[in-house]
Amino acid sequence: MVSQLASMVESYISDSRKKYAPQAIPLTDAQRSTMQPFFSAPILDSARLCVLRGTRVSNPSMYAMAKMMGIRNLPDFAAMTAITFVDVIVSHQEFTDALLFHELVHVAQYAQMDMKEFAARFVNGFIQGGSYEEVPLEKMAHALESRFSQNASETFSVEDEVRQWRAEKI
Ligand SMILES: [Zn+2]
Repeated sequence: MVSQLASMVESYISDSRKKYAPQAIPLTDAQRSTMQPFFSAPILDSARLCVLRGTRVSNPSMYAMAKMMGIRNLPDFAAMTAITFVDVIVSHQEFTDALLFHELVHVAQYAQMDMKEFAARFVNGFIQGGSYEEVPLEKMAHALESRFSQNASETFSVEDEVRQWRAEKI
């Protein structure tokens, strides 16, 4: 069941990425210089941003099936501030530095684990934790985002953090 859900999440990520990529644009120079101490050039080069106006991200079509399986607390993507599909960050509001930082952590996570692993970790984390907020990938993004927000002059490498986290969690 978990692997079936994970492969559906994977298709959702891949389809959404394809859907939003054409309207997504690179980081501005200002955004880039703020994020540059924390992320490597390949991450900042590959990331694309898309701010939706008058429309919202739709939930995966697999939700109907997940609900039938008795899975509750499914995250409502339409209600989220932003969602990252591999390297395409789709936001329902203008990007603040904290929001951009958080989503770039997800880009860095995807860069180190292919879509399949990301989806599997997401589904497993969700089922074990019982909510979106408890998914380890999400908790990590929140923790690093608060480190950045509390003191942006104390720099660190997000990719090193992801690498270390992944080595410990496997
Ligand atoms: Zn997140």
